[in-house]
Amino acid sequence: MSILSRPEFHDEQAAYDYVEARLWPNGPTCPRCGEHERVTKMQGKSTRMGTYKCRACRKPFTVKVSTIFESSHVPMHLWLQAIYLMCSSKKGISSNQLHRTLGVTLKTAWFMSHRIREAMRGGKLRPFGTGGGSVEVDETFFGNDRTIKPKGTKKGRGYHHKFKVLSLVDRETGQAESMVVDSLKSRDLVPILKENIAREANVLTDEAAYYQRLGEHFASHRFVHHGSGVYVSKADKAVHTNTIEGYFSVFKRGMKGVYQDCGKEHLHRHLAEFDFRYNHRIALEINNRERSDIALSRVVGKRLKYRDSSVKGVSHPTF
Ligand SMILES: [Zn+2]
Repeated sequence: MSILSRPEFHDEQAAYDYVEARLWPNGPTCPRCGEHERVTKMQGKSTRMGTYKCRACRKPFTVKVSTIFESSHVPMHLWLQAIYLMCSSKKGISSNQLHRTLGVTLKTAWFMSHRIREAMRGGKLRPFGTGGGSVEVDETFFGNDRTIKPKGTKKGRGYHHKFKVLSLVDRETGQAESMVVDSLKSRDLVPILKENIAREANVLTDEAAYYQRLGEHFASHRFVHHGSGVYVSKADKAVHTNTIEGYFSVFKRGMKGVYQDCGKEHLHRHLAEFDFRYNHRIALEINNRERSDIALSRVVGKRLKYRDSSVKGVSHPTF
């Protein structure tokens, strides 16, 4: 049986039951006052599916309140399909593909996928390298940042006009965290690294100048000289940044092959998406279904406002 033939992907009531069971472990819970005992299901013929009434604050609610699903007219079973597809495709799934697979409009698919990325975001990790573990740090350049004025000829522009992505991988926990940074100057990078990496960590980078003085801030800093073609230190085979290079390769293949173009205002959400899948990957014994359930558990408090995802020239459906 295909996983997509499960009832919650097709039957609206089953979809509500599925979401309620996961978001309300103590039974239906009022999102306004937290009441879960004096709550009754509303059964009227004209009542919308999944409506409950809180007898403490006297207001009706559904499981969609204050989640990414709030005020969306997309049926819940399609939301569950979309979450599953985004969580189970290693390099992501385009809005176009979602639009064709789910039978929703392209705009709706676009909006759904950004809301799902928002759900994937967060889940604050402990500082990397806690307890003296090894943390790989590396940067990559990607896309075309149109907010930066071009300098020099197209050929001679180097990386100036590209987005700068900084990623960290904790080798002990296998977790990655990525962010868009405006500058790779040491004075801008060090505070970011200090915020995310434990003092006792062993930091591993390449030879780039902006990493040169990291030894002052962490227990140790060692690097490989990529410029001389050294990817693993001969003296110590543990000194390399190959884990993070592997992460970047999935990210880049996904961004180029699936998402193609992405403005700066959305890049952090795409990074959250790739971090999320990486941090809940098969190698960590998390299967597709469990990964989707984790994303689903994070939909609360992530209501995305129209304003938050607006792009010039793209008008959004009123959800
Ligand atoms: Zn209430």
